[in-house]
Amino acid sequence: MLVLVINSGSSSLKYQLRDVAAGDVLVQGIVERIGFPAEDGGPGIPNHEAALELVDDALRGALAGRGIDAVGHRVVHGGERFAEPVLIDNEITRAIERLNPLAPLHNPANVVGIRAIAEKWPELPQVAVFDTAYHRTMPEHAWRYAVPDWLYTRHGIRRYGFHGTSHEYVAGRAAALLGVDAEAFDGVILHLGNGASATAVHGGKSVDTSMGFTPLEGLVMGTRSGDIDPSILVYLGRQGLSPDEIDDLLNRESGLKALGGSHDMRTLVDAAERGDAKAQRALDVASYRLAKYVGAYHVAVGGAKAIVFTAGIGENSTAFRRLVVDRLGALGVALDEDANAVRSPEPRIISRADSAIPVLVVPTDEERAIAEATAAVVRAAVAG
Ligand code: ADP
Repeated sequence: MLVLVINSGSSSLKYQLRDVAAGDVLVQGIVERIGFPAEDGGPGIPNHEAALELVDDALRGALAGRGIDAVGHRVVHGGERFAEPVLIDNEITRAIERLNPLAPLHNPANVVGIRAIAEKWPELPQVAVFDTAYHRTMPEHAWRYAVPDWLYTRHGIRRYGFHGTSHEYVAGRAAALLGVDAEAFDGVILHLGNGASATAVHGGKSVDTSMGFTPLEGLVMGTRSGDIDPSILVYLGRQGLSPDEIDDLLNRESGLKALGGSHDMRTLVDAAERGDAKAQRALDVASYRLAKYVGAYHVAVGGAKAIVFTAGIGENSTAFRRLVVDRLGALGVALDEDANAVRSPEPRIISRADSAIPVLVVPTDEERAIAEATAAVVRAAVAG
């Protein structure tokens, strides 16, 4: 089955054409600056419909006469309703749209992408794969904030969690590497990219995760603060900052960028190695915060059987992994320095044989997970 995976943003459209059975990527790309004038002052790409024409051109060569069988969309927010990928129809599209207030930057753009495809290829089945869905198994004691009930009942204020597609995929691959059933996997997954989150997995299911109502909660990220005392927002508001200014400050001007002068882990590690104290401080704060979450989630899963690193930093940064694992001595975790230094696209173990908990690196592949989920939903729908 050939699945076109779409990640539709407000001004960009990422796509990947995948042969699901073979596991291959046939073509991939990104259309950017949608809705902006072209850099040379020309007309540019006015909307997502126009962006899809460019995607169509790019696909044609790769398809070589074959047809696309289905489209899989990465949808950021599935609210409380969506615990699984679903076949999209008008009602589902409207349901995703109703969640716009919870993800104002993402869900409207996802809906625009869905409608543009429905317009261009009306006969193609479309599937929505939600970033929040995997975390629908979190127990209430993990998703509740300790605030008055109307915040939840009227505004939907609760913890949802994100990066679910990646956490689920990586948990499955980690279980396979360790030779345990996916349904018996207990561990802590650390998805460390520009956005970063940790998930506590018990019996293969998410029982807690570090992102909450929005992807701002939790770990120190590239430009996001992660956990802070909420009174800081109130204080800043009273100092005259607007909601948009506070949003910008915490989502785009904080995190590693604020602490160390760069949002990029490679830059920070290089600078710290040259003796840059600010960069070192950023690494210290981020690794300390992350290690605290690992300790907490070790408890949440009733004793983790694996600690798993994934995404850009988790898969690639030997230095950052060492900083984190060095803080886990109390759990009996011991890093194998040689294994940690290996660069590889394969899932692997980087702890010593005598480590109380194995530490793994498992590359994530959200597009693959979305393509496989899409194929499964479409197959089930056909089987009726
Ligand atoms: P996104 O959340 O945007 O998908 P990624 O998963 O691509 O992010 O991760 C981006 C982060 O990964 C950046 O901080 C980058 O510095 C880091 N990273 C990527 N490659 C390497 C590498 N070879 N060594 C260290 N860090 C890396």
